[in-house]
Amino acid sequence: MIGAGPAGLSAAWFLSMLGYACHVFEASAEAGGVLRWGIPLYRLPLNALRHDIQQIEARGVTIYTGKPVSPDALEKMKKDYDAVFIGCGHGRGMSMKVPGEDLKEVSEGLDFLRKLREGETPPCRGVSAIIGGGNTAIDVAAASCVWAEKRCCSIGGAVRICPLWNWKWKWHWKKAWNFRNSLLRLPLPGKRIRSS
Ligand SMILES: Cc1cc2nc3c(=O)[nH]c(=O)nc-3n(C[C@H](O)[C@H](O)[C@H](O)COP(=O)(O)OP(=O)(O)OC[C@H]3O[C@@H](n4cnc5c(N)ncnc54)[C@H](O)[C@@H]3O)c2cc1C
Repeated sequence: MIGAGPAGLSAAWFLSMLGYACHVFEASAEAGGVLRWGIPLYRLPLNALRHDIQQIEARGVTIYTGKPVSPDALEKMKKDYDAVFIGCGHGRGMSMKVPGEDLKEVSEGLDFLRKLREGETPPCRGVSAIIGGGNTAIDVAAASCVWAEKRCCSIGGAVRICPLWNWKWKWHWKKAWNFRNSLLRLPLPGKRIRSS
């Protein structure tokens, strides 16, 4: 398995249950993928993740961390192993390609979450506007409330048309954090946000 995120770890877990030997190669210093560096700790405590990973290792799966697999190494692996599973994820944010993205007050969601997990406190004050309505947006909004002690975050985008994640929305809502689902007008600098 290349990558020790949920995909690589799940593949290793199920293959080991079928009796196959599995080696997992992970570029980062610790396994877990987004669960390790992206999802805020209040939602997934490190102990819980490490416990699950130990269960996988207890089945005989070997996880090598700090081992990024290069294209050349992949070619060699194809010869050395009976099968290769690539579970490298997509750990990069996407640019919206709008003016203002490079302002110092604007952060990309995954970078923001990663820095929080690394112990950095992003310099943000007051009300935050979060563009997007998926997993990253909701976690950024909630993390802002928790760590920056914000009283209100605005989320622009698709929360209402994303019923799969209603449970997650409600879970955060129950915590009484003050989110507002909003309409946002672009470009970013100097424009006002209208709450719905
Ligand atoms: C903020 C956020 C919140 C989320 N919340 C939820 C949720 O509540 N519920 C839910 O079901 N899903 C959630 N998701 C989605 C979920 O995290 C992803 O679907 C899942 O992490 C994808 O797993 P993956 O293994 O494919 O990729 P990743 O988790 O990205 O793992 C890929 C791994 O591969 C490693 N890797 C990459 N390249 C190499 C290489 N060349 N060599 C070796 N290793 C390499 C990376 O270091 C990483 O550890 C959330 C995602 C985000 C970003």
